[in-house]
Amino acid sequence: MDLVFFGPPGAGKGTQAQKIISEYGIPQISTGEILRAAVANQTPLGQQAGPLMAAGKLVPDELVIGIVAERLKEQDCVKGFLLDGFPRTIPQAEALEAVLKKLGRKIEHVVSLEVSDQVIHERMKGRGRADDSPQTVQKRLDEFRRLTEPLKAHYQKQGLLRPINGVGSVDEIATAIKRAISG
Ligand code: AMP
Repeated sequence: MDLVFFGPPGAGKGTQAQKIISEYGIPQISTGEILRAAVANQTPLGQQAGPLMAAGKLVPDELVIGIVAERLKEQDCVKGFLLDGFPRTIPQAEALEAVLKKLGRKIEHVVSLEVSDQVIHERMKGRGRADDSPQTVQKRLDEFRRLTEPLKAHYQKQGLLRPINGVGSVDEIATAIKRAISG
């Protein structure tokens, strides 16, 4: 089961990813989590990514593509994987396709959690992450609409897009996702 979880910041990707990975026994690969760990450990990657993340901007494609390409080669990905927060740009999606092709596999479903900006702002008030201030959230949403949302058309064309209403109880949404990826 090779999955991509897609949606604006605050759509619930992380929460839903947790449910799906425990059910399907596949690893979650969150580029945001990997980058936050690099910032915390003050690695060269973290030093490059930290200021961009704090400003709500995307980090350069080459950096995240390299991280994901390496991660997908690890043994725990043989049964499948759930990418959370990657790809976020068309070049990232193309690089992912190339990496998977070399491994003889391809994305099966792109789960798109659909949530309005208004709901996102409400939800973010309850979170405590360093990049969750209202201004940074707005910047992250702007980046999402500008650079990431075009991926929907890209995956729609490939017949891979599974739009899911991201408003509802955690269990309702999880049920809708499972239905979409089991078909
Ligand atoms: P997330 O936890 O997915 O919301 O990611 C937090 C931050 O990490 C984002 O606002 C970006 O600055 C950076 N980031 C995570 N994934 C990517 C990606 N695929 N491409 C570029 N930047 C990313």
